[in-house]
Amino acid sequence: RELPGDPEHGARLRQVEGALYSRVQPTPVSSPHVVAWSAEMAGTLGLSPEDIATPQFAAVFGGNALAEGMQPWASNYGGHQFGVWAGQLGDGRAISLGEVLDGQGHRWELQLKGAGPTPYSRGADGRAVLRSSIREFLCSEAMHHLGVPTTRALCLVATGEAVVRDMFYDGHPRDEPGAIVCRVAPSFIRFGHFELPYARNDVALLRRLADFTLRRDFPHLHGEGERLYADWFDEVCERTAHLLAQWMRVGFVHGVMNTDNMSILGLTIDYGPYGWIDDYDPDWTPNTTDALRRRYRFGQQPSVAWWNLARLASAISPLFADTAPLQAGLERYAAAWEAADRANVAAKLGLAQCRDGDVALRDGLHAWMHAASADMTLTWRALLAVDPAAPSPVPFADVCYDEARREGAEPLLRDWLERYARRLREDPLPPESRHAHLRAANPKYVLRNYLAQEAIDLAEQGDYTRVHELLDIMRHPYDEQPGRERYARKRPDWAKQRPGCSMLSCSS
Ligand code: AMP
Ligand code: MG
Ligand code: MG
Repeated sequence: RELPGDPEHGARLRQVEGALYSRVQPTPVSSPHVVAWSAEMAGTLGLSPEDIATPQFAAVFGGNALAEGMQPWASNYGGHQFGVWAGQLGDGRAISLGEVLDGQGHRWELQLKGAGPTPYSRGADGRAVLRSSIREFLCSEAMHHLGVPTTRALCLVATGEAVVRDMFYDGHPRDEPGAIVCRVAPSFIRFGHFELPYARNDVALLRRLADFTLRRDFPHLHGEGERLYADWFDEVCERTAHLLAQWMRVGFVHGVMNTDNMSILGLTIDYGPYGWIDDYDPDWTPNTTDALRRRYRFGQQPSVAWWNLARLASAISPLFADTAPLQAGLERYAAAWEAADRANVAAKLGLAQCRDGDVALRDGLHAWMHAASADMTLTWRALLAVDPAAPSPVPFADVCYDEARREGAEPLLRDWLERYARRLREDPLPPESRHAHLRAANPKYVLRNYLAQEAIDLAEQGDYTRVHELLDIMRHPYDEQPGRERYARKRPDWAKQRPGCSMLSCSS
């Protein structure tokens, strides 16, 4: 069904009280065309390449038409932004089209990001620019293949329309090509969905949301009453701990861990000014909006997640007679985080198990990386070349960004390699299994900020080949991919200061 060109399909800006979503329609665009799509996600949803090539597909995923049964909505949530309660936020540029059951009976919600205004757009345009859409599209799929829980992306549609951004991108405001990503997830419910009815003291709505979430997204939890809510909060805490451990394992910095960007299923959600660690620095954040306080810096992410869970605990506290079960959940987060971190230590160092001293061993490698300006991804991958009988710094000769710092820190590295080699000699894993462990925990290919930017530069000239190539490379991040070594290198010098390759701003 074609949608009319009138942009006011229920998108009047308003405070929405007593409801968790609003009916709204996408606003049509002039010439939607599919520029990239995920074969895996399409396969899961039972869509063939022929389906995706049809004009109907581009019309639906560009927001110009609705397929049978679609009744789109935008959902209502609040959130703490940078530590401060922000009131109603909601899906300001996301419109859900509906849910699909795949061949295995799993349910997937399809959501367009950038399909026009909603009641929650708060004066912004409801649109997304091509560069941020490419970043979201590629990174969602890259994270999935890295084994990190995430919302997925089905397709990237160029709208053929310009989006006006008066923010500073490379020193000047500019018009940019617009795009729409179709995100896919079992649920897009966020911590902020619970915070809003709590802040408005609407306990009846809060309870309905909790019961709906339990029924739809946590059907494996049985129990009753308060016990059921407590089991649910425990699970949210555990999933969040697992998520954070995965981010830390691969060097991902979310950049905007506001409570409205925290998924109740523990998925990575909202790819905005995220970034990947190149030269190891736990204080690094890609987000220019956060450059001074660095609340969302890499090394602080696990503590921020705890803080966010504490906000969720407050929000659902009206469902409990006392706060003991919520306290217990937060403690469970701490324990689950520690266990997951220890699992990372063993996996990333290629050990059969994490012994107590191994955490300090891992921290020692971090300390060297930081001192020597070493690339995180390349350093971990170089452990494959360490010979326990004769450890040598040679495999690490080329992973640093600053030669003077590398030289200065060389004694640290030699010392660390001796400790690591000694530890390996005590470990029961035979070399082949150790190498398999190392390969499976330390990716060779990650979506470095500059790689995404190169693809964006080409796409803005109408050439999507690099988007397709990166998508394909990121399907096998742990494999050697002969001929593609260029994509597994250090960040080049030119990218250090270039916007988009190092720092990014929040909403685009
Ligand atoms: P974020 O910082 O991406 O988590 O976004 C925070 C809030 O701003 C959410 O409610 C978004 O829906 C909203 N938002 C961001 N960009 C836009 C936009 N271009 N138009 C409308 N709402 C937006
Ligand atoms: Mg958001
Ligand atoms: Mg965002």
